[in-house]
Amino acid sequence: MIFLRADIERRELQTLAPYAAKSAESRGRDFPEPEDFLRTCFQRDRDRIIHSKSFRRLKGKTQVFVAHYGDHYRSRLAHSMEVAQLSRDMARALGLNEDLAETIGLAHDLGHTPFGHAGQEALNDCLAKHGLGFEHNEQSRRVVTLLEQKKPDYPGLNLSFEVLDGMMKHRESGEASAFSGTFKPSLEAQLVDLSDKIAYLNHDIDDGIRARILSSETLDTLFLWRKAKENVRADLSHPHFVSAMISSLITLMIKDLLENTNRLITERKIESVDQVYKTKESLVAFSDGFAAEVRLLKGFLYDRFYNSPGILEYNNRGQQVIRFLFEELIKKPSLIPEKFSASGEAVVIQVKDHIASMTDDYAMDLYDKLHWKAFSRSEI
Ligand code: MG
Repeated sequence: MIFLRADIERRELQTLAPYAAKSAESRGRDFPEPEDFLRTCFQRDRDRIIHSKSFRRLKGKTQVFVAHYGDHYRSRLAHSMEVAQLSRDMARALGLNEDLAETIGLAHDLGHTPFGHAGQEALNDCLAKHGLGFEHNEQSRRVVTLLEQKKPDYPGLNLSFEVLDGMMKHRESGEASAFSGTFKPSLEAQLVDLSDKIAYLNHDIDDGIRARILSSETLDTLFLWRKAKENVRADLSHPHFVSAMISSLITLMIKDLLENTNRLITERKIESVDQVYKTKESLVAFSDGFAAEVRLLKGFLYDRFYNSPGILEYNNRGQQVIRFLFEELIKKPSLIPEKFSASGEAVVIQVKDHIASMTDDYAMDLYDKLHWKAFSRSEI
């Protein structure tokens, strides 16, 4: 038997929840294209993202630790894959569209700068002097609608409306999106938002313990960590204790999220995608009590991990690199690759696009080259 696109579309209509986004009912692409024989529009978008250069560069972008810190720390690529995996699993459990959730998960960090959030802050500060700012969701959308080139016929990857809408995920409650006119994106997109949180909280604990910045004993102050321990049979001295704990913690979070989301959908009597778009509150959410514990965990990570001296040292170094590159490229726009200058936008925008696209290594190498040149010139 062979199942082609039309079969998959039919199956979605028959088996997915009424409030799931169906590929056959997509609002389509900016530049109309004939449908693929094999894949639904969302599956095709996923493949376009995986084949893009921005996606491959995620492997060289910092999550928390810079790329060369060690083999087992998460890069932004590993993070994106974990987000996609969690999104897919939970979408399946909720009767949502797995392909759409996976696609948004893989794409959600495409616009991220090198050097993680520190890099993003530095670029934002540089742009503020020009009356601009940096927002990584907006940049991710810019990557897929403009900077990535797939075909000569149109700019960007020409993704489906639902994928683009899902990539603009941080939407203030009570305000309709200027892009889609909806209050909230699909449930699949809302699910990716929470999968992002579950992924980073857990892998950052794992990486923090690996780096010996965090320890299981200090995490014991947190209710969620103690709760996760109840389901782990190994003790602290076991070599796989930490992985078992992370797995148990992820399970706790998934269970609460699935149950509470299902409750919200039922209570609000959500029966269609349109109703999801018109609802101002998030329908994918942890229960109130659990959300409060998750906030405590997040606060703990900020205090003990993201703002720990070792991490701050790397952050400062990354920020220095970005500030220097920004000033140098503004002064010498001829150094900006044609890919970015071809947009014909103001130099400051070209510099933003160029820096945001860099991997940590690329930025460091360019910094070394330009720094050395600037230094040797001043010596002469
Ligand atoms: Mg993320």
